[in-house]
Amino acid sequence: MIQGNNHVCIVGAGPAGVVLSILLARQGIRVTLLEAQADFNREFRGDTLHASSLEILAQMGLAESILKLCHARISKFQFSTVASKITMADFSLLKTSFPYVALIPQEKFLTYLVNEADKLPSFHRIMNAKVHDLIIRNGKVCGVIYMKDGTMHEVNACLTVGADGRGSRVREQAALKLIKTMPPMDVIWFKLPKEHDPLTGNSTGGRFGVGTMLAMLDRDHEWQLGFVILKGSYRTLRERGMEYFHDELLKLAPELIKSLQYLKDWSQCSILSVVTGRVDCWHKPGLLLVGDAAHVMSPVGGIGINYAIHDAVATANLLTEPLLSGNIKETDLAEIQKRRERPVRFIQTVQSVMQRQIISSALKSEQQFRPPVLVRILAGFTVFQKIMAYMLAYGLRPESVKYS
Ligand SMILES: Cc1cc2nc3c(=O)[nH]c(=O)nc-3n(C[C@H](O)[C@H](O)[C@H](O)COP(=O)(O)OP(=O)(O)OC[C@H]3O[C@@H](n4cnc5c(N)ncnc54)[C@H](O)[C@@H]3O)c2cc1C
Repeated sequence: MIQGNNHVCIVGAGPAGVVLSILLARQGIRVTLLEAQADFNREFRGDTLHASSLEILAQMGLAESILKLCHARISKFQFSTVASKITMADFSLLKTSFPYVALIPQEKFLTYLVNEADKLPSFHRIMNAKVHDLIIRNGKVCGVIYMKDGTMHEVNACLTVGADGRGSRVREQAALKLIKTMPPMDVIWFKLPKEHDPLTGNSTGGRFGVGTMLAMLDRDHEWQLGFVILKGSYRTLRERGMEYFHDELLKLAPELIKSLQYLKDWSQCSILSVVTGRVDCWHKPGLLLVGDAAHVMSPVGGIGINYAIHDAVATANLLTEPLLSGNIKETDLAEIQKRRERPVRFIQTVQSVMQRQIISSALKSEQQFRPPVLVRILAGFTVFQKIMAYMLAYGLRPESVKYS
């Protein structure tokens, strides 16, 4: 059993949990990080780091090393159809040392960060440790119970942080209810090895066809692909068969012609039901939720990792002093929600508009989809591309590190 009066237990080694661990442990605060999995190789993880998160990593002295793990830098978010290409956001217009979106596989990103955390004497990491329950005494959360190697263990802590992602067990055990919204789409998520043929360039972005959409992430030696479908239509697609699926993919991305030979079976694809949402209250005495545990982010815009990192920074900024003084109150925890909720609500609204106005209309379209006229007109202006880039990269209230 791990004991502690002035000890923080963080559940989940995603971007939120790991960044928070480093920031707190660097100040000498005792941190135990529990991660359910044995490593960081995940099916459903994004790769995109925006300028504001790279600035945070620079403030932590880590950006240079992390950028060495980056295999591509995207300067524009573009939607393409067979006939045209629309630039929705141009990151090269931003005034920053990082005028791009860095693509870094999360496995490498998180492995690098936990290795950094492991160097800190007040940090303790336990992998393969799946949290089952909260320890509650006199109405206050005082730690967690987790399973490792078939045995239950306890961590006692003055603060428990649920950073355990979209399906948060901590949130469930604390009875903090997620108010879900169901974007009208599901995503068929799969990888293909990259065959270098003449058409291959930097193809990261969204492609629209007739009632179809494909999100492509160029991961250097492979493609990470998301074929977006209307919610609930996966069965119909499967019934049409793999050959039909190949044809649809080729219409959207002819450069996949060689790579597609490796997609033989539906078992190579995972179906992701896109869910978004947020909890009304992010805290209870002794407990705080951050990242996707507090607000499940849609993959649209590739910003979920950034919001998780910004939550971690806000938490460290606001809680370092109360934790060091050994006097942490629920009002301190409420400050974090107060600071982060508006930026999260704002960007979720932007995502929802994009989902309804662009993605959903594209999937319902019986002709070659063209984005709404207003979007096409606005996207022709550099100022619009800059505003969109700023909104995605920084949002309403970007954080910066107070205690690095
Ligand atoms: C298909 C898909 C694609 C996406 N693409 C992007 C993208 O390109 N860019 C982007 O910015 N965002 C993307 N997102 C969103 C992004 O992945 C999330 O917003 C982000 O990972 C949230 O970070 P987090 O640290 O809050 O949680 P997570 O990254 O989900 O990490 C939670 C961690 O908690 C662990 N855990 C869970 N339960 C327990 C338990 N009971 N005990 C112990 N540990 C536990 C998990 O194993 C996991 O490691 C995507 C999401 C999806 C679904």
